[in-house]
Parts: sequence; C-alpha cells; structure tokens
Amino acid sequence: MESKSYNDKICWFCKKGRHEECMKKIPIDAASEGPHDCTFDTKLVDCQCTH
Ligand SMILES: [Zn+2]
Ligand SMILES: [Zn+2]
Repeated sequence: MESKSYNDKICWFCKKGRHEECMKKIPIDAASEGPHDCTFDTKLVDCQCTH
C-alpha cells in the first residue's frame, strides 16, 4: 500500500506495524547539500501515526 504523502512521518516501528514500540520522536536526516560529518543535521519530528 502506497502512502499518499511523504509528509506523514511515522517512525520505523509503526511502519512495521509494531505500534507498542512507537518511538514518538523520529530522528530524520535533514536533506542538506553540504557534507555532514556530524549528527547535528539530524532533527526530531513527532511520529504522525494515529494508532
Ligand atoms: Zn503507530
Ligand atoms: Zn510511531
């Protein structure tokens, strides 16, 4: 089943259907053009899953 929008961010566990293990916060890699040799490019978004 295709997701209709990639703006709906859900965590890795919810994608797998393991909602009990939902992380609530998802670290996502910022799409940066420059070299990222540190983790500061990662930001957290809330899991959008409505279990
Ligand atoms: Zn979920
Ligand atoms: Zn989740």
